[in-house]
Amino acid sequence: MSSDISQIQINQAGHLEIGGADALDLVKKYKTPLVVYDVSSIRNQIHHFQKVFEDNHVDYAVSYASKAFACIAMFQLVNQENAHIDVVSGGELYTAIKAGFPMDHVSFHGNNKSVEELEMAVDHQIGVIILDNFHEIALLKQILKDKDAHINVMLRVTPGVSAHTHEYDQTGQTDSKFGFDLQSGQARKALDEVLADQRMTMLGIHAHIGSQIFEVKGFELAATKLIDTLGQWHKEIGYVAKVVNVGGGFGIRYTEKDDPIAPEMFVDAIVKAIKKRARELALPMPAVWIEPGRSIAGPAGYNLYTVGSRKDVPGIRSYVTVDGGMGDNIRPALYQAEYDAVLANDPKAPAKETVRVAGKYCESGDILIQKQALPQTKPGDVLAMLATGAYGYAMASNYNRNPRPAVIFVENGQDNLAIRRETFEDLIRLDQPLE
Ligand SMILES: *Cc1c(COP(=O)(O)O)cnc(C)c1O
Repeated sequence: MSSDISQIQINQAGHLEIGGADALDLVKKYKTPLVVYDVSSIRNQIHHFQKVFEDNHVDYAVSYASKAFACIAMFQLVNQENAHIDVVSGGELYTAIKAGFPMDHVSFHGNNKSVEELEMAVDHQIGVIILDNFHEIALLKQILKDKDAHINVMLRVTPGVSAHTHEYDQTGQTDSKFGFDLQSGQARKALDEVLADQRMTMLGIHAHIGSQIFEVKGFELAATKLIDTLGQWHKEIGYVAKVVNVGGGFGIRYTEKDDPIAPEMFVDAIVKAIKKRARELALPMPAVWIEPGRSIAGPAGYNLYTVGSRKDVPGIRSYVTVDGGMGDNIRPALYQAEYDAVLANDPKAPAKETVRVAGKYCESGDILIQKQALPQTKPGDVLAMLATGAYGYAMASNYNRNPRPAVIFVENGQDNLAIRRETFEDLIRLDQPLE
């Protein structure tokens, strides 16, 4: 990939600028590898989503899928913008509690929530538990009875539409580990079980059809199927849903090969499809909830690395190695995810060569970028990988006992530490010496 610098900011010194701060100054202060978030990018994307609903005059919630990147500062930022969050584990819920996040704005997902996780959700009276399977309904029933408590729930269903980046398919998703199947009547049976329990308030239905999707059609089809289902349930037993939750999955630009529409345009199409079908079926218009993760956190993030060693394999290629890798961003190794990178000290410098950007981890697959056009680099240069904010730090590990990087939030030129860099001491804090 050649560098696509159209979307980055360059300051008067000719350096990469993030959130109004010079990337090289951030590196001087915090060292590398470093994860930097442009805070206003996060705020703006949330605003863009909210505006679509306002413009369409529809009740809504923008619920940030926190698995893309979660920490206390991120939850506080999301709350400042009046967005909700999804959590998928007790750990994410705990982080939200510690962030002071309003519990009624939390949704809990997952296909195997534990008793402890469900109890935690009930004890903290979170906004909604998104029920995924019959085992979970039984567990929750018992917990609510034991605690003499109530909770809001939704049913996650598989609408029979799945999407993979550039295609969608209308049959594939039935074979999924998540949710209640619509076709076989599982979802209807789950509805009956939930409605029979006075301790559960059935808010509506939920579907999430995939991730990094570029194709609007799949979303429209899935949303329409959800409304058809509600129409059927209304006809059969008079059930009226308050909420239709269409999940997330809106695709973003990682490299110049990607050219998605703006994330909020997916939502505009979904809202219009729902409105149309609800009108056709004479159903009251439900609130529409969305759960964007990648599209909020991804474009805002930058991973900064220092260039170290180099290996030239004659006649084949050159490897330029940086001081991070699969421990702070496993996506390239895990599923051949592609990124673009620029030289932070001179993003505009013309490319001189195409190299493979390698990480420092002891694994041949630890390659961050397979083909990156770059100017001539030298040890000590700072390389910035772009759009790393989603599923990067969130999937970070201590492989090779490397400490995880620091995470910085920057806005209006002001930098704030969001997660401090791990120390060697942190790495051994769980270790117990041999007796
Ligand atoms: C992962 C996930 C999301 C977010 O997906 P993105 O591709 O990051 O937008 C939303 N909802 C559910 C249920 C998910 O599992």
